Amino acid sequence: MNKRTFLQSLFTAGAGLWLLPRTKFAAADLAAADEADQAHYLPREGDFTLPALTYAADALEPHFDKMTMEIHHGKHHAAYVKNLNEAVKNTPWATASIEKILAEVTAKHPAVRNNGGGHWNHSLFWSLLSPKGGGEPGGNIGEAIKATFGSYQAFQEQFQKEALGRFGSGWVWLIVEEKSKKLKIVSTPNQDNPLMKKLVKERGKPVLALDVWEHAYYLKFQNKRADFVKTFWNVVNWQEVERLFTA
Ligand code: MN
Repeated sequence: MNKRTFLQSLFTAGAGLWLLPRTKFAAADLAAADEADQAHYLPREGDFTLPALTYAADALEPHFDKMTMEIHHGKHHAAYVKNLNEAVKNTPWATASIEKILAEVTAKHPAVRNNGGGHWNHSLFWSLLSPKGGGEPGGNIGEAIKATFGSYQAFQEQFQKEALGRFGSGWVWLIVEEKSKKLKIVSTPNQDNPLMKKLVKERGKPVLALDVWEHAYYLKFQNKRADFVKTFWNVVNWQEVERLFTA
């Protein structure tokens, strides 16, 4: 799946029907699935693939270093893709879209949970970075951030606090909260994300994401997660955040 296809499939709902054999494996999950959701996700074609970066691995220097980008994308993300393909083989998710998988996965399927989340989270993350990024956001997202958090600086402080407060591995998100439709900063452990309806309490549509696993920063920043978060602001692709927010 290339970047465009991935982005198009991120949050769009199709009118497709989901026609898969209802095996014993799936019974519990399907019984619990919201019937309305069944029509929202088109099946996918073929295996999941690693989306190419739309910029060179060294394009985010001096903020994010080349070696971290190469290993993070080419090794870590690639492994999530490979393991996800293996984990969904011979399951009712064998041809399901990633969004459908995330909406349905439970703690009973850790390999699908971890690698499905790993694939989706990183695909989003790469698209949220740009060598031309950074600065204070304008547009609708800039207005909404000010209205919700008081100022861009107050938003940054809260986001950073959430990033430093996440013990161990995980992600920090700016989401449009499912019920209130308001912006909210949340974090999740490991590769969970706010689309995992059956696993995560604070759900919604992510519009900004930061990977706070040590693999995202250790080569350059060692244990200094705070410095990594501060550096992140220099490469945020606010144009893409705006697109996701207004989509
Ligand atoms: Mn990562």
